[in-house]
Amino acid sequence: MRSAIHLALLTALIMASVLPVHSSEVPMQSSMVSAVPAAEVAPSWRKDSAAKMERELAAKYGDSQRERAHRGLEQIAEFWRSEDGAAATFEDFVRTNFAGDQATLDTMFTRLESLLEQLGGHMHEIKREFRQQSDRDIGPVLPFDEIIAGYDPSAHVVDDFFQNKLAFVVLLNFPLTTLDQRLKDGPSWSRRHWAEVRLAEGFSKRIPADVNLGIAQAGAQAEQYIAEYNIWMYHLVDGQGRRVFPPKMRLLSHWNLRDEIKADYADSSGGVAKQRTIQRVMERIVTQTIPAVVVNNPTVDWNPFTNVVSPAAAKDSDATALPTKPSNAREPDTRYAMLQKTFFASKKADPYSPTAPTLIARRFDEDREIPEARVRAMLEQVLMSPLVPQVAKLIESRLKRPLEPFDVWYSGFRPGSQYTEAQLDEMVAKKYPNAQAYQKDIPNLLMKLGFSPERAQYVASNIVVDPARGSGHAMGAEMRAEKAHLRTRVEKNGMNYKGFNIAVHEMGHNVEQTFSLNDIDHTLLKGVPNTAFTEALAFVFQGHDLELLGLPAPDARSLAEKTLNDFWGTYEIAGVALVDMAAWHWMYDHPNATPKELNDATVQISKDIWNQYYTPVFHKKDVVLLGVYSHMIDSFLYLPDYPIGHLIAFQIEEQMKKAGSIGPEFERMAKMGDVTPDLWMEHATGRPVGPEALLEATKRALVAVSGR
Ligand SMILES: [Zn+2]
Repeated sequence: MRSAIHLALLTALIMASVLPVHSSEVPMQSSMVSAVPAAEVAPSWRKDSAAKMERELAAKYGDSQRERAHRGLEQIAEFWRSEDGAAATFEDFVRTNFAGDQATLDTMFTRLESLLEQLGGHMHEIKREFRQQSDRDIGPVLPFDEIIAGYDPSAHVVDDFFQNKLAFVVLLNFPLTTLDQRLKDGPSWSRRHWAEVRLAEGFSKRIPADVNLGIAQAGAQAEQYIAEYNIWMYHLVDGQGRRVFPPKMRLLSHWNLRDEIKADYADSSGGVAKQRTIQRVMERIVTQTIPAVVVNNPTVDWNPFTNVVSPAAAKDSDATALPTKPSNAREPDTRYAMLQKTFFASKKADPYSPTAPTLIARRFDEDREIPEARVRAMLEQVLMSPLVPQVAKLIESRLKRPLEPFDVWYSGFRPGSQYTEAQLDEMVAKKYPNAQAYQKDIPNLLMKLGFSPERAQYVASNIVVDPARGSGHAMGAEMRAEKAHLRTRVEKNGMNYKGFNIAVHEMGHNVEQTFSLNDIDHTLLKGVPNTAFTEALAFVFQGHDLELLGLPAPDARSLAEKTLNDFWGTYEIAGVALVDMAAWHWMYDHPNATPKELNDATVQISKDIWNQYYTPVFHKKDVVLLGVYSHMIDSFLYLPDYPIGHLIAFQIEEQMKKAGSIGPEFERMAKMGDVTPDLWMEHATGRPVGPEALLEATKRALVAVSGR
């Protein structure tokens, strides 16, 4: 998560989320440097040489340098392999590269900071250029364009720097830290010290190329499995052979299935039957009682309640059926075998990551920088909030029936709008016939958000608007000589409202990217703590899109509906996140389990979490729905990011309301840079990251919608 907005070279190391802030979070390292045996033994002389050099450095530079020398020697000894050289080479390297006085250390720091900015910035520039054809609306994409777009020139940088020993120079002179230290001591560190910490962090692991490749392959395989997991909805039948879904409807698990449940609330006659059917499908995916033959196959009909499979009695595709009679043999735990492969691959990196020796630690201590125990406590605070039964009751009163398990995806909290989408489309198209018109209007939009004319001009001059091929994204720069890019979708007859709404969101990213790179004291601290922060800042902009069109702001009732929607969504995804976390712990506790055992464990975990936090309001036990998210299979413990993101968004939103004007407050927050989330949030709002802002807003929203 950090990597999305961190040094390009950190990106290569941890996980390359290539460019846009929205890109998914999957490791993509591919290192081709000479493979090193997976578990190399430390050279036997290392300890003696380190002790000898500590004495020598202390004698040369004075006792005041002894502690630094000790730390640096320990840090390089940790990563030094026999291929890096024998004892004499090690000792000579230390003698030559230890910065034993402040002036030399300052010079080293300043040069490295500047050069790494250049490296990261230019690598990013290459990536952006290589992706032009696929990202921008500039004509057809040929197959070779995709190869170019997928190329990452920085993929081998960290390997190179260990090979030429630049990484050892950094590790000899700057401090590696644990999350515990960053949390405890970080608030009293100087900004320079923070920058040194981030500098060293870029080299906190030396994962062999074959291990990184294995992680990338396991991730890609799981992603592929997920990408082809479609359910042909027309072929779901009930006991009477009735079909409740239309022909050709093909839904990807779990996203499209969940979104169909959400959409079905609008269907007052057949909606519930559809939702119950999808729930049954999801349950069979989680338990793996789903017949293998029904996955991505429109040539069979399937009754998910009885699990009976038969040749399709109706056709809605060109696919040809297999000549044999379809069986309902269950999917053989493939879902969990895929998850387990990502675990096995990740585990191989553990010995090479001394400050975060498990994938769980790397996720929480490095990427999120919030300890797992605190994340769990925050999620539980939402799950056990007395507001949950109150909101549940409100939903029941709107549905006029008791809750059913699929109502974790209730979508009925909707802000009303005075304008139809068509009216808004017309207004936007008139204002923005092309991307240049939007570009020209940026200073004006920023002034409406409370930026001074000078600041608005300044930021606008750092943003380039390009027409996007897809829906739009923001691509920040990685060095100050470059500009942030706003990719926005413009139709032939002008921008539509949806495009405008997204453009405003992406512009929020660009403004954050500009302040947090160009106006920060250290480029090593550029960015924000993690993606949740940049998303929260972008949502602040997006929430004011109507005012930017010169229309009235959403009224209190609309805002309350939106808050309740976010609260219910956080309640749902908090449970999903706990399942993801528990599954990874189970895998680490049972490294030799079979996929079937992992299946059983995940089903049990899903039930336990449901029974604890959902049964009290749903009045139904042993539901397994929380285990259906596809991210759990292919995204390496990513799911906790979602609920944390909601909490952070509310904290920032509340602070903006308190401050009154967005502009100066936004700039103040964005210049804090990449420190721990708690430190950033303390600086921004006076409190660490936590659920209080969401819970407070929900309390007020309940009053607002019930009119009390
Ligand atoms: Zn975004």
